[in-house]
Amino acid sequence: MSRKFFVGGNWKCNGTTEEVKKLVTMLNEAEVPSEQDVEVVVSPPFVFLTLVKNLLRPDFQVAAQNCWVRRGGAFTGEISAEMLVNLGISWVIVGHSERRALLNETNDFVADKVDHALSQGLNVIACVGETLEQREAGTTMEVVAAQTGAIADRIMYWDNVVLAYEPVWAIGTGKVATPGQAQEVHFNLRKWLNDNISVQVAESTRIIYGGSVNAANCKELAAQPDVDGFLVGGASLKPEFVEIIKSAT
Ligand code: PGA
Repeated sequence: MSRKFFVGGNWKCNGTTEEVKKLVTMLNEAEVPSEQDVEVVVSPPFVFLTLVKNLLRPDFQVAAQNCWVRRGGAFTGEISAEMLVNLGISWVIVGHSERRALLNETNDFVADKVDHALSQGLNVIACVGETLEQREAGTTMEVVAAQTGAIADRIMYWDNVVLAYEPVWAIGTGKVATPGQAQEVHFNLRKWLNDNISVQVAESTRIIYGGSVNAANCKELAAQPDVDGFLVGGASLKPEFVEIIKSAT
C-alpha cells in the first residue's frame, strides 16, 4: 500500500499579518509536485487561520496548532475542535512536544484530544518523541510506544491520523536526526502499530519526521522507506519549505 508523502509546516507562534501574507504568496507561487504525490498542510497561529485559509492555494490545506480537549464551553482562552470545523479548517496538530513540556500535556490528555478532534471530523497530526535524556537512557521506543499507545487506547480508526515522530532534542536545535536514526524509530513505530493495532493500520498510517528538517537534509531523510514526510518548524517560514515539499518526488 502506498502512502502519500505529507509535508506539514508548523509556523508556531510567529508572524504578523504582513509576514503571513508574504509567506502565503510565496507558497501560492511555488511550483511543487501535484496533489497526487504530496499533501501539504500549513499551520499558522489561530488568529491567522481564516486569513490563510482564504488566501492559500486550494491544493494546500490548513491546520490549527492545538485545540481544546473536549467540547467547548467555559474554558477561557481555549479554541474547540468544533470551532475549527466551523471555520473550515481540516487539520489540527496535537501533542507537540513544546506543549507537552511547557504546558504539561500528558499522554492521556493528548490522547483525549486526538479522540475528540477526530470525533468532530478533523484530521490529526499527532506528535510523539523522546527527550535527549530518554534517548541516552535507551528508552526511545518505550517512550514513543507509550505516547502512541495512549492514543491507540482511545481511537478505533487511524485513517485520519498522521503520526509525527519528533525527537525533542532535534526540534529547533539544528541537530537533525540522522536518516538512520529516523528510519530506526519509524520502522519500530510501524512495527508497534502492526503488533498492537493491525497490519492495515501499520501499512497505511503515515509516519512523518520532524526536528530541524531543512532543504539540505530533507532528501536523504525522505529516501528512508518508513519516512512518509515531514513536520517542519523553522524552515517552514522560509522559501526553502518549497524545496522540502519537492523532496516528495
Ligand atoms: P523545527 O521544528 O523544524 O524548527 O526543528 C519542528 C517542529 O517543532 O515541528
